[in-house]
Amino acid sequence: MLIHQFFDYHSQRNPEQACLLFQGQTLSYAAIAAESLRIANGLRTQGIASNDRVAILCENCPEVLAIVIACSRIEAVAVPLNYRLAAPEVAYILNDAKAKILFAPDMALVDLLGKLRPLADAALPVIAASADGVENWQHWLSKCASTPVLGDDISADAGILQLYTSGTTGKPKGVVTSQRNIFALYTSASTSLKNKAGPGTRDLVCAPNFHIGGIGTLLLPILAGATVVLHASFNPMAVVDDLENHKIDNMFIVPAMIMAILDYVPNVEQRDFGSLRQLLYGASPISTGLLERALKIFKCDFYQCYGMTETTGTIVSLSPEDHSRALNGQPELLQSCGRPQAGVEVKVVDTSGNTLACGETGELLVRSEANMLRYYNREAATAETLQDGWIHTGDSAIIDEHGYIFLRDRIKDMIVSGGENIYPIEIENVLSQHPAVGDVAVVGVPCAKFGEAPLACIVLKPEQSLSEQEMVDFCREQLAGYKIPRQLKIFEVLPRNPSGKLLKKDLRAPFWADHERGIN
Ligand code: ATP
Ligand code: MG
Repeated sequence: MLIHQFFDYHSQRNPEQACLLFQGQTLSYAAIAAESLRIANGLRTQGIASNDRVAILCENCPEVLAIVIACSRIEAVAVPLNYRLAAPEVAYILNDAKAKILFAPDMALVDLLGKLRPLADAALPVIAASADGVENWQHWLSKCASTPVLGDDISADAGILQLYTSGTTGKPKGVVTSQRNIFALYTSASTSLKNKAGPGTRDLVCAPNFHIGGIGTLLLPILAGATVVLHASFNPMAVVDDLENHKIDNMFIVPAMIMAILDYVPNVEQRDFGSLRQLLYGASPISTGLLERALKIFKCDFYQCYGMTETTGTIVSLSPEDHSRALNGQPELLQSCGRPQAGVEVKVVDTSGNTLACGETGELLVRSEANMLRYYNREAATAETLQDGWIHTGDSAIIDEHGYIFLRDRIKDMIVSGGENIYPIEIENVLSQHPAVGDVAVVGVPCAKFGEAPLACIVLKPEQSLSEQEMVDFCREQLAGYKIPRQLKIFEVLPRNPSGKLLKKDLRAPFWADHERGIN
């Protein structure tokens, strides 16, 4: 099973069916198929062969889909770049991937492209929307043949995507995802979700194409022959308007996007979300308060999704029934990210690799057909993360007796103080209830007596104050003594990466400059 085969199936049977709605245009399956053929022929002419990396720098746009399908036709690997990073960070990824060509087919990122080019290999062919010293995309496309591309005995185990991890705990790592991984995700999602995509259904995709949450949620409905309303980037007003105007059935968003919709769209509670059957959310923790507000506004089936780039996206989900149970007497369920999706095995192990019993905290391991092939050019990191077919998630978790997974924290964020393990999330949950606290992160800092101790990094709500003593007194009611942070640091804003994930490594770094923490 290959991406372009599924695409061609739909484009041959339903050529005029809308594939993408983008900025007022409707692009049919036939139109995208034709463009992807041109790109595949153009890539071949350019000398791009099996296993070569094809970098893409653009906001979400139809060309991304056409390029990925083209790569599938010639067994090349598409590498969408995270354009929300600074130019040197994007250059790091571009160079790490050893890309053979760079496509930048839309105008939105012309400035970034300008800053990136001097940092990239001077010999790298660049095909871009701006004709400024590089080959123009439209012109390049017009020269490409539209003849059928004859397959080269393409393997389902060949890489098709190389997405980079978010870089929350270190430098982003290139995750090589195979065609088989994508179809494993497709099968698992089609089985696990109640509302299926297919001809006639509409998905809204506003998550960025360089994360699995964006490219996966674009590819899945397309493999099913559905229509995707594609947003170049996330804009809360535009999402709400299109949910109404295009009668969207299904959407994936991250918690930070839910917060933006609920906080910034005027009168959001009066908008009509009647067509929305399913809302998928995940990729980072969500507070119960935000989730409860969202459930009241969207009134549809909610799925929480847990996964990582290395697992080709969602592998664990909290179902709509679980959300209902949570609202009807089992509120603790909202703290769970759910149970494994179809075809996914999970276990929790201790530091020696022994499987732990229900209720015990350890590292979560995952095995499924969607597990990545490897990290690109990182043998040691691959050997550490992928052992005997199991992905070591780096997340600590508990599995309860009903199979529900409760994430504790990232293992790298765990604090070991005087021999006790402290999970910062527990402290953050307590401090976030303090009336003066707007945002909070707890990290481990050096401590002469206990090795490490928790430090509370807090953003205060406007016109509020908080002393260390007030913080300690507030925590004393709810936390064991060794977990109570004694130190407080006030911030204007906490550092987050472009995915909205807290960069605890940046908060910790100044404190550990002269120490060895041993785990970073
Ligand atoms: P890096 O691996 O470079 O440090 P990252 O782990 O943030 O970055 P991703 O692959 O984008 O990169 O994110 C996967 C991680 O996101 C998971 O390991 C987990 O910590 C977190 N995550 C994903 N889904 C959820 C969820 N539903 N709830 C809480 N955390 C989640
Ligand atoms: Mg990770």
